[in-house]
Amino acid sequence: MSTSRGTCCITGGGPAGMMLGYLLARAGIEVMVLEKHADFLRDFRGDTIHPSTLEVMHELDVLEEFLKRPHQEIPRARARIGCEEVVLGDMAYLRTQCRFMALMPQWDFLDFLAEQGRRYPTFHLRMQTEVTELIEEQGQIVGIRGNTPAGPVEVRADLVVGADGRNSVVRDHSGLTVEEVGAPMDVLWMRLSRRDGDPDLIAYSDRGRALVMLDRGNYWQCGFSVPKGTAEEMQAKGIEEFRAGITQLAPFLLDRVTELRDWNDVKLLTVRVDRLRHWYRTGLLCIGDAAHAMSPVGGVGINLAIQDAVAAANVLAEPLRKGTVSTRDLAKIQRRREFPTRITQRVQALIRQQVGGSLDVSGPRRLSWIVRLLERTTLLRRIRTRFIGVGIRPEHVKTPDIASAHTFGYMR
Ligand SMILES: Cc1cc2nc3c(=O)[nH]c(=O)nc-3n(C[C@H](O)[C@H](O)[C@H](O)COP(=O)(O)OP(=O)(O)OC[C@H]3O[C@@H](n4cnc5c(N)ncnc54)[C@H](O)[C@@H]3O)c2cc1C
Repeated sequence: MSTSRGTCCITGGGPAGMMLGYLLARAGIEVMVLEKHADFLRDFRGDTIHPSTLEVMHELDVLEEFLKRPHQEIPRARARIGCEEVVLGDMAYLRTQCRFMALMPQWDFLDFLAEQGRRYPTFHLRMQTEVTELIEEQGQIVGIRGNTPAGPVEVRADLVVGADGRNSVVRDHSGLTVEEVGAPMDVLWMRLSRRDGDPDLIAYSDRGRALVMLDRGNYWQCGFSVPKGTAEEMQAKGIEEFRAGITQLAPFLLDRVTELRDWNDVKLLTVRVDRLRHWYRTGLLCIGDAAHAMSPVGGVGINLAIQDAVAAANVLAEPLRKGTVSTRDLAKIQRRREFPTRITQRVQALIRQQVGGSLDVSGPRRLSWIVRLLERTTLLRRIRTRFIGVGIRPEHVKTPDIASAHTFGYMR
């Protein structure tokens, strides 16, 4: 068993874990991020980089470099609901540095964060390290145990942060109570080629079904939502019926749905929505999906994970540096982030009901009055755009950059 010690040990190299690792290392804290996969190429989990995340990049002075990576810019997100076209968000309303949403494969985004983290000597990213349990001594979490290809490892730290996503092992072993919010759907993901002249709508929804289409340059990353637990039934009906379901929503795909040869070309991602009652206990904090699993509705989960990381770093950098982290600090992070989480989950459920549910399988293909009101009123359009683009209670980077620490009076 190899044993190491650090100030902060983060489990999971997703958006929350990588951003927190980068911010803490940037503030001069010894931090170790443990990621179970060998690289960031993994199941699709969203490509949307919101204006608020781009704002964080700007505050970190890396925005220009970030935008050099291949990406698509979406200033207006439009969708077809029933037979009507609606603007989901018009980023021109925002007062952020970037008035667009960037679409970038998540592995490129995570790679970028890793690259930034590695500029600091206190940043340690261990790939292929799967955390399996927490080490608890006298009622306090003092580290983790895990497996690597080279054998078992033990990492001891002043603070363990669980950022290992919706199926978090850390939270499973923590004894923290999970409140299930429930998600009435799952998503089937697939790729279809993209051609010049294709419509640039981001989603199509009709009669209880929805298709999300994210522009990945030469192909569309498509997500087809199905009521929870019905994927097997759909598979039993055959791929032809599934293809027909897609073309009913987006007829222009008729000439290429056969690219889905069989069910091996389609991946089921189960959606889960929940949150922890307490995000922490002595020596342990959970953030991102590990603290609150988000549904894909509105594509705001990554944004929330990043905001959690920024808030956590703002609170923790100083006590971690001094070796004085207390549960009071951890409670402060939950207090700050719980409200945006609850509201976001509530609004996601409302959107799903109003957009997906109101267009019932047998119902009229008209929008509910709420959606119509949201669509037609400028003030409500602005509020809706802000919810999607920036979120509730946006966080700002307050941690110093050790490389220019003297300017903050940070080094003693
Ligand atoms: C189908 C689907 C589509 C979505 N689409 C979008 C979208 O378009 N836009 C959006 O903003 N959000 C989307 N979301 C939500 C979004 O994916 C999450 O909210 C976001 O990724 C949370 O980030 P995170 O860092 O907390 O967790 P994750 O992104 O889940 O990252 C957790 C990391 O921990 C690692 N890990 C897990 N277990 C261990 C372990 N035991 N040891 C070590 N490492 C471990 C994982 O490999 C992973 O890298 C979607 C969600 C789903 C289910």
